[in-house]
Amino acid sequence: MPFYDLKCDRCGIEFNVRATIKERENKSIKCPECGSDSLSAVFKNVNVIRSRKFEESACPNIDRCGGCCLN
Ligand SMILES: [Zn+2]
Repeated sequence: MPFYDLKCDRCGIEFNVRATIKERENKSIKCPECGSDSLSAVFKNVNVIRSRKFEESACPNIDRCGGCCLN
């Protein structure tokens, strides 16, 4: 399953989510904060690639919490 970097159009948070393409098309991905399905794809800069592998095994809010909620 691919990962998506998404931004919520409603509350503005960015999050990383793992979902199938079909789930994305069906808008079954919801914002973890407000539950909105109005999400935009986020294209990040090159400097994030280094942490990509870490993100994949970390929580979907890694950009926000820095991984602290894994504990
Ligand atoms: Zn939201």
